[in-house]
Amino acid sequence: MSLAESLFSAAAKKARGAVRHDWTREEVRALFDLPFPDLVFEAQRIHRENFDPREVQISTLLSIKTGGCPEDCGYCAQSAHYDTGVKAQKLMSIEAVLADARAAKAAGASRFCMGAAWRSPKDRDLDSVCAMVEGVKALGMETCVTLGMLTGAQARRLKDAGLDYYNHNLDTSPEYYGQIITTRTYQDRLDTLACVREAGIHVCCGGIIGLGESREDRISMIATLASLPAHPESVPINMLVQVEGTPLAGRDKLDPIEFVRTVAAARITMPKSMVRLSAGREDMTDETQALCFLAGANSIFYGPKLLTTPNRAHDKDMALLGRLGMTPMA
Ligand code: SF4
Repeated sequence: MSLAESLFSAAAKKARGAVRHDWTREEVRALFDLPFPDLVFEAQRIHRENFDPREVQISTLLSIKTGGCPEDCGYCAQSAHYDTGVKAQKLMSIEAVLADARAAKAAGASRFCMGAAWRSPKDRDLDSVCAMVEGVKALGMETCVTLGMLTGAQARRLKDAGLDYYNHNLDTSPEYYGQIITTRTYQDRLDTLACVREAGIHVCCGGIIGLGESREDRISMIATLASLPAHPESVPINMLVQVEGTPLAGRDKLDPIEFVRTVAAARITMPKSMVRLSAGREDMTDETQALCFLAGANSIFYGPKLLTTPNRAHDKDMALLGRLGMTPMA
């Protein structure tokens, strides 16, 4: 037995039947180092213990306030630091957002996510976002927002409005983070996640693959997520969408098999979380996405855009699910 296999079998035995928060980097590294068939088999086995493997949860994401963001996230089309051609827009009206939510519901989405390009929301903006959350809830959909950093008081206001999920990604490993963002720290992110948890809101938190990080960074990011005091209920795994004008445009593209390995490691280490294929599906083959589902992904975003970057067409997604004999989760 190789070192990776023996470490993995010890880790897997400990993991069976238990949600753990003490994943070490060594254990996560052992997962990444497994032969691909063994890794995908283990991810699928754990997936089947916790979910119906034929079901995919479908979410829609709307940019409710686009562009002009003061943060310098090196991958983002909406940062005011880069010339990407995205025009800054004001916060959408409540009625326009609710019209989009009604359309998303009619197209089969069960969760409606709203994103605003802010460092953190101002209190007057939060009044409008709370009204949007209340309106979307009244349609019978789950709600999620991503608004940047939050204080405890702001998180409690959103909870009182009925918010189900707050998205705030770690993006990458603590070690690589400073290469991607300099205007806020990793600890700022962890503090916002703690405020969201304390308010009783579900957490949606994952990262982006293909930023130029090493495998060791991917291992470190998954180990960090899996060692949070509570696992995020949703774990988006994004493939970088390279945007002209950002510092990350022109990077070498990541091997899709490495992306599938990252999805499998997320599934094994966070067995009860929804693992979501998020940005980057537009450039992925159907075969890569099918492998991701086999590796335990069970959630996708659909709709023509993910904030400002293109996404797969709805009919292509439905056709793929049909070919795979999979269905949207009720
Ligand atoms: S990722 Fe979010 S916080 Fe970062 S620049 Fe883009 S909109 Fe701003």
